[in-house]
Amino acid sequence: MKPIGPIPEGFEALNGELAFGGVRVSEMEARAGRTPFFAYSKSLISQRIADLRASLPERIKVNYAIKANSYTPLLEFISGLVDGLDIASGGELEMLQDLGIDGRRVSFAGPGKRDAELEAAIAAGVTLNLESENEASRALAIAERIGKTPRLAVRVNPDFELKGSGMKMGGGAKPFGVDAERVPALIRRIVDAGCEWRGLHIFTGSQALSADAIIEAQANILALAHRLAREADITLPKLNMGGGFGIPYFHGDEPLDLDRVGEALSKHLQKLPDSLKSAELFVELGRYLVGEAGVYVTRIVDRKESHGQTYLVTDGGLHHQLAASGNFGTVVRRNYPVAIASRFDEEPTEEVNIVGCLCTPLDRLADKAFLPRAEVGDLVAVFCAGAYGASASPSAFLGQGPAAEVLI
Ligand SMILES: *Cc1c(COP(=O)(O)O)cnc(C)c1O
Repeated sequence: MKPIGPIPEGFEALNGELAFGGVRVSEMEARAGRTPFFAYSKSLISQRIADLRASLPERIKVNYAIKANSYTPLLEFISGLVDGLDIASGGELEMLQDLGIDGRRVSFAGPGKRDAELEAAIAAGVTLNLESENEASRALAIAERIGKTPRLAVRVNPDFELKGSGMKMGGGAKPFGVDAERVPALIRRIVDAGCEWRGLHIFTGSQALSADAIIEAQANILALAHRLAREADITLPKLNMGGGFGIPYFHGDEPLDLDRVGEALSKHLQKLPDSLKSAELFVELGRYLVGEAGVYVTRIVDRKESHGQTYLVTDGGLHHQLAASGNFGTVVRRNYPVAIASRFDEEPTEEVNIVGCLCTPLDRLADKAFLPRAEVGDLVAVFCAGAYGASASPSAFLGQGPAAEVLI
């Protein structure tokens, strides 16, 4: 038997079925129109954001990194709850523009921004988090050509990283940001060129569950931001401190103690250096806001035995939920939280492997999980599917088509 991850708070059994907010999985299926589907909970998202704001100092603003989940209704809903939105492509900018979101609420990071993307962003008043000196030159030239003052920030490649982070994005050679020691000169150059100066972006990593690691990273970020501002002889109108707040996916993962993060941050805010005194301070979060608020539901289409093991074969798989299959940035595959959604109140009695319908051995949703007995027609739920699910899976693979999505 292999353990499964912890089922997030907010899910319950209703008439024997998995439910959230009083809505049963069979009703979610009816709204989605088919299996497999992703269901996202508005109430869980707004609760999460309210809890986050209660834990963090009031001055800290919250950005949503839309790459975690850009399902249009969810994007529209969450954009009313957060202070700003972070994008990483021109396509994501178009999604926000289609929703009528003001570009001045948006910042754009990410390496490899094409000229057309820079132009669309500058025209819309989006803040560009510059990833290189070359990108700065292109942005300034494009702004000049279209007669707009560009809103520019510099993304720093810091000389430290977020410890225990699932995905490291700072420290050493990186394709992201400008090495810290070269940042002051770049700031001087873009400010002298007449941009609207928007400060710094310092992102150090993702999926950290340790409050200590986040507290240490935030202290380092504030110190580095001050040092760079002082060297450039400038104050910071804005500092995007990154995020990295993680969620429990696997057995043994403990939720992040956000109150401790908030308390440590409060102390820092009381003694901010002059360069940061009037800065707007942001955290940018993806999975922490939406990851636990979504579930992926797929139907069992076959139940078979092979060499003493039971396989539940579903109509879903890694083409929708790549991360749960262990093929999205993990070294060792471990089980996400899963359940038999149509028998959510039944006791586990058997060990099963849950697989997808793709003809590849990579397509596994749970290995040797101990679950209630399930039959063909039952529904399987994979939790923690609100982030990096539909938006980060190869839905064209094998022609199985995308999953449905519903916001409830
Ligand atoms: C991906 C990304 C995020 C969001 O990461 P999460 O782990 O989902 O919170 C935030 N900022 C930047 C720069 C990113 O690339």
